[in-house]
Amino acid sequence: MQDNAYLKCIDPQCGLEYPIKSTNVQCEKGHLLDVIYKNNPSVKLQEVFYKRRNSQGNIFDESGVWRFRELLNFCQIDTENIEECSKYLVSLDGAEGRQSKPYHMSKAAKFIGILNDNLWLQPEGYNPSGSFKDNGMATAVTHAKLIGAKKIVCASTGNTSASAGMFAANEGIECNVYIPAGQIAPGKLSQAYQFGAQIVEVDGNFDDALKQSLDDVQKNDGYTVNSINPFRIEGQKTIPIRALEYLNWESPDWIVYPGGALGNTTSCGKALMELYDWGWIKKIPRIAVVNSVGASTLADLYNGKFEEEELRWNKGRPNTELITRYYDHLDKEGILPKTKATAIQIGRPTNILKGLRALEFTNGVVTTVSDSEMLDGMSVVGLNGFDCEMASGATVVGIKKLINEDIIKKDDVVVGILTGRQKDAMLPVDYHMNPENKFAKPPKN
Ligand SMILES: [Zn+2]
Repeated sequence: MQDNAYLKCIDPQCGLEYPIKSTNVQCEKGHLLDVIYKNNPSVKLQEVFYKRRNSQGNIFDESGVWRFRELLNFCQIDTENIEECSKYLVSLDGAEGRQSKPYHMSKAAKFIGILNDNLWLQPEGYNPSGSFKDNGMATAVTHAKLIGAKKIVCASTGNTSASAGMFAANEGIECNVYIPAGQIAPGKLSQAYQFGAQIVEVDGNFDDALKQSLDDVQKNDGYTVNSINPFRIEGQKTIPIRALEYLNWESPDWIVYPGGALGNTTSCGKALMELYDWGWIKKIPRIAVVNSVGASTLADLYNGKFEEEELRWNKGRPNTELITRYYDHLDKEGILPKTKATAIQIGRPTNILKGLRALEFTNGVVTTVSDSEMLDGMSVVGLNGFDCEMASGATVVGIKKLINEDIIKKDDVVVGILTGRQKDAMLPVDYHMNPENKFAKPPKN
């Protein structure tokens, strides 16, 4: 194996480096790590990627993740050699990311108040386990396989466990899932059981479950597949990469995500940094992150709602003490993240620093939306014939809010990511039972 990919600490003052086969998810001083590539992939690959859409039975060309394997070649393999790909790359028979691409949705555009031609929504729920997580799980489990791990471990608000369980079952390895007891949508929990994962119930919220899962990995032999793992981020890069490819590599003005643990913000930022650096894109799209009002750590800190300081990456010198004081404040006041959109019910976003870096690079913005707004967003997506979960509704109403505030301009081109499918069956039922709701169609008798 050559030495073209390695791990590097994100803190520019530290910059510790580790070989690609390291299982560290942090440097020894506790900073997050990036996967770094020494080579600059040629723009000529764009043609190769396009040709691979006619996969001719090759699952790695069929896969929406591995179709772009030269941009995430941390295994450092000959990417045209199918036998070598089969030996290293983990795939759900080419299904991860295969069906996700940006679509126009006219009813959502009308509701938002944007030209239909300028709005693209990309349903990542059409992944095999029903959420965007399959993109990053393909790469994380590939790295787990590279180092010979026999057990993957995660904490989850639901979608991660479904994806981890599915990949583990396919690879014939064990999977332990830490969940906050009683706080997971039954449709998500049932997936983890269905795929044979070992559920570990934790008293507390997602943040507590994550802490316990990381302790488990430290004490016992296991491989963490939460988005703190830099290899998760690599696969998730293909979400914006697919969108850009469908737009012929012409950058939109905005890419909009719901904000939870900030793995998506991170991976979108890393993809854009790399593509810009390699000369693949000339314009940097701005990232907008949409928090729930009830789980608004990033929005509070970024928008100066806490101690009146606007938290920034600040070229690698973020005020981390401000974050610590904010978390202390949450603990002291007994404030827990609370939203029905459980996928983004996260108070301590693991990737906050990488997220800040992405926001700085893209001149990004952060906003918040309420639960009832998210349900409207979720419901209008359905009227276009697409399924999505409540957290994905944040993308739709977040765009609407930012247009109303004149932050997103009316003629801007916007790509919104719909992160997952509906797995909480009662949410749409309850929404439509109440005639007060904007898109409700109550039953007749
Ligand atoms: Zn470091």
